[in-house]
Amino acid sequence: MATTSFTKKSLGLESVEPAVTPPPPNSNTSFVKKPKLSSSKARKKEIPEGLWVKCPKCSTMLYDKELDENLKVCMKCHHHFPIGARERIHSLVETCSFEEMDAQLSSMDPLQFPSYPEKIESYQKSTGFKDAVVTGIGKIGPHRVALGVMDFSFLGGSMGSVVGEKLTRLIEVGTSKALPVIIISTSGGARMYEGMFSLMQMAKTCGALGYHAQAKLPYIRILTHPTYAGVMASFASVGDLNLAEPGAMIGFAGPRVIKDTTQSELPPGFQTAEFLLDHGLIDAIVPRREMKDRLVFYLDHMLDSRTQAVAG
Ligand SMILES: [Zn+2]
Repeated sequence: MATTSFTKKSLGLESVEPAVTPPPPNSNTSFVKKPKLSSSKARKKEIPEGLWVKCPKCSTMLYDKELDENLKVCMKCHHHFPIGARERIHSLVETCSFEEMDAQLSSMDPLQFPSYPEKIESYQKSTGFKDAVVTGIGKIGPHRVALGVMDFSFLGGSMGSVVGEKLTRLIEVGTSKALPVIIISTSGGARMYEGMFSLMQMAKTCGALGYHAQAKLPYIRILTHPTYAGVMASFASVGDLNLAEPGAMIGFAGPRVIKDTTQSELPPGFQTAEFLLDHGLIDAIVPRREMKDRLVFYLDHMLDSRTQAVAG
């Protein structure tokens, strides 16, 4: 296990991360520059240079720094924008407590898929990650946890052999050190460039979680927008406690595919976190800004009841 200490600075928040996390390729979020005000020079000086973001839900123009400070949640309508893995980890763990694992693990090209190595290299450069998940041990409140956080900006958060291997190692460390596991998912599914090697990760991660469960340790899954396909069909659907962010789209196949296959109208709100809460797939919807406090609260209870169960 690599023991690179994660300070705020080494997370790259100041130096590496762009001012605004790039939206997923299929996102309807539109990032636009504030129009130039050429009518008055004095007025022009008052407005700082920078990116402005239009909220896709309420159309308010949001200043990127304020949006960052608000954990990428619209200040007006509470729409949850995509957020990078580093920022998310920083918002959850105690300062300097996160020790990243396997940061250098990088994908091979097992199928010799045309242009896959170039694609990986390009995403590594644009995101600063080696692959689509960051894993490590950190403290949330008083609790040490094994934490895995996916990042959609790396090839749509797709799960190839590196994502599967990093998560499996994380869960195994969690089991051996008797730590709760928390995995925050955002993914379009298994990575097609690695074919069957990607699909194998579904069984591998769930196998590791099986051993973790046998040790009577809690696993909390947090589903964020979007979580689909092979990821939803494996480790993202077998939590002891199942949380989601507001408005997250969650499912196996997308709504259009289901609609075409079943030739029927889908109910309103189909595949949203709110719909799935009503139908029992998830236990609670937790706004991003409340996530840390709620995790501490849940861990307090889960670890306390575990201690009582072991004692009993
Ligand atoms: Zn809004």
